[in-house]
Amino acid sequence: MAHTEGYRLTYNDEDDRVAFRVSPKPYKKVKGHLRGRPEDLALIESALTEDEWSLRQAELLYRDGVYYLHVTVKTEVEVPEPEDADTLVGVDINERNIALTALNRETMDTLGTLVLDYGSVKAERQRYHTITKRCQEHGQHSIHNQLGEKEERYTEWVLHRMSRVVVEFAQQFSNPVIVFEDLSGIRDAIKYGTYMNRRLHKLPFHKFEQQIRYKATWNQIPCETVESPYNSKSCSCCGHRGYRQGRRFCCTNDSCEVQQDHADRNASVNVAWRAWAKHADGDVESVNYRTRKTQPFVRKVSLSGSGRSVNRPSSSREIASRGVLTT
Ligand SMILES: [Zn+2]
Repeated sequence: MAHTEGYRLTYNDEDDRVAFRVSPKPYKKVKGHLRGRPEDLALIESALTEDEWSLRQAELLYRDGVYYLHVTVKTEVEVPEPEDADTLVGVDINERNIALTALNRETMDTLGTLVLDYGSVKAERQRYHTITKRCQEHGQHSIHNQLGEKEERYTEWVLHRMSRVVVEFAQQFSNPVIVFEDLSGIRDAIKYGTYMNRRLHKLPFHKFEQQIRYKATWNQIPCETVESPYNSKSCSCCGHRGYRQGRRFCCTNDSCEVQQDHADRNASVNVAWRAWAKHADGDVESVNYRTRKTQPFVRKVSLSGSGRSVNRPSSSREIASRGVLTT
């Protein structure tokens, strides 16, 4: 429904609240005040009070006894150029986790590293998959559909949360750019086994990247993509070709300071480094060595499975700040 037709929002200066009037059917109106996260209400306030903002379509949803109004707001955001960034945040996405490394463009020092584990997603998908299969065997298709939806929603929730962590991690640094590797190669890297494996591994990497890009744009953070040949096989310290042993990366260069590193962290440094090389003057191959050692440093953060776990980190901002080195 369109604003001023199906629904109308008004911002009240005095009590700092947003009032709504929704007409789900002709001659039927519902009035009240919106409740929600302060940052979301602030967006609506901007949409109502500022010229360059506008309200678009809204959708009314009912779930578990609560009505939700999903409002679309529109504005133009100015995003800096990737090559002007001071901090390069390399993102390595694979079937187990997401590794982030922030490098200072000037000194190539590591400013922070964060590894986000999402093994729980796989486990949860496996669980739904098993139940779904059993229901199918017994011809209970309605439950099957419900579970499919539940699995979808769960994945959505995780992607949403993790993409927020990525953006908040980047936001902590001065003038960042988020760097992705070209994902076209990632499918080859994951070994597909049985049908089950294929299904479980089919995490929506592309969708995840899109979500990060979308959230980054809102926060005026540019993103860019780099080619990634041998990304996971090159040493992020000396550039030498090495090998992976499980989650370890081993450098074969005897004179290298970093003999071993967390494999995914190593790959994320390479992604950030490639963004530096992309905009460096001269032939990239001729500068294909590291002038500065980056010390391995990993904090592993797990996202809780159901979102109701006791150990659940209180906010994505808190998770994002865990991987930051403070000196
Ligand atoms: Zn090395």
